[in-house]
Amino acid sequence: MRIVPNVPLATLTTLELGGPARFAVEARDKATIAEALRWAAERGLSVFPLGGGSNVVIGDDGFEGLLVRVDLRGITAVRRADEVELEAMAGEPWDAFVRQTVDRGLAGLECLAGIPGLVGATPIQNVGAYGQEVAETIRAVRVLDRQTLEEHVLSPEECAFAYRHSAFKQAPDRHLVLSVVFALRPGGAPAIRYPELASALAGVEGPTLAQVRDTVLALRRRKSMVIDPADENRRSAGSFFTNPIVDDAQAAQVVARAAVHGVAPTDVPRWPVGPGRVKLAAGWLIERAGISKGLRRGAVGVSSRHALALVHHGGGTTAELLALAREIRDAVHARFGVTLQPEPVLLGARWT
Ligand code: NAP
Repeated sequence: MRIVPNVPLATLTTLELGGPARFAVEARDKATIAEALRWAAERGLSVFPLGGGSNVVIGDDGFEGLLVRVDLRGITAVRRADEVELEAMAGEPWDAFVRQTVDRGLAGLECLAGIPGLVGATPIQNVGAYGQEVAETIRAVRVLDRQTLEEHVLSPEECAFAYRHSAFKQAPDRHLVLSVVFALRPGGAPAIRYPELASALAGVEGPTLAQVRDTVLALRRRKSMVIDPADENRRSAGSFFTNPIVDDAQAAQVVARAAVHGVAPTDVPRWPVGPGRVKLAAGWLIERAGISKGLRRGAVGVSSRHALALVHHGGGTTAELLALAREIRDAVHARFGVTLQPEPVLLGARWT
């Protein structure tokens, strides 16, 4: 195990922002992860496991603990009667893994193409897009208990998956994800549930998994949601805010406030997500609160292709980015009475 002091972190994140970690270690096997956790515990240091750095906002002063880069690799397959179980190690790049499943004719992850980051991050917030989420296919999650250093295999029930949420997000310091087991359907039909995806595929007779994957990638690219070095919006953490889930009364208030500005109730995007609970579209709320795509505040701004993504244009600070995020939160709250919450993990950075 090689612990390195004072490691710059900005280059390890897609936002390219943030100060250094006091210590960092690269872990290519489980034993190194356990050793690193023990090393940090002996010194009273907190530990942060970093994957692809695509969903984290690191404060300008950096992180005072031990950053563990989880670089566990490998994919194994087990054939069952009507499904294939793939166990992917946490450090496998997610998009390449999705491509492999599609190439092997395995249905279940095809709509999740183009999402940056690593496999190990996907169960944390039950990553989902274009009508599919990982909870549909996760059969088990292998974890390390960060206190006892024991390995456990958690069932989907124990993971407590919900909309962009899980037990891991609820208690972030409890477990470290080592691998994820997905149960996929050989020869299965692709999921075409999302209206935007369905209309992009209109006219394609019986789309294949590969066609669905390619279409999702094209849709994401149009929104700068695929990391592309030539894209002016490339330095971002994807969606900066989660879609708010509110109660019926709050949803009615949003509709009423939108009406004041001439928006018909049918034009307010909202979807029921359980008894008395309604999901609103954060991006829509932001634009309707007067925050335009492409807005600039010095070295940071709003993506020119998607109001939900905040971008860093280079030479900026996390403080600037968070100031813009708060400006957006406050504008949405003033207009609709709804408080947006950031989606990325904040490390060494304060939100409120
Ligand atoms: P969009 O198409 O502009 O739509 C905005 C929101 O409306 C989405 O978040 C989506 O919810 C919701 N929506 C649209 N049609 C719906 C329907 N028929 N029923 C229920 N909800 C509906 O979304 P976008 O921002 O460009 O994102 C495209 C997809 O990528 C979305 O599925 C989004 O969730 C996903 N995404 C996920 C993450 C993540 O997992 N952290 C990050 C970025 C984007 P849903 O979120 O439920 O789809």
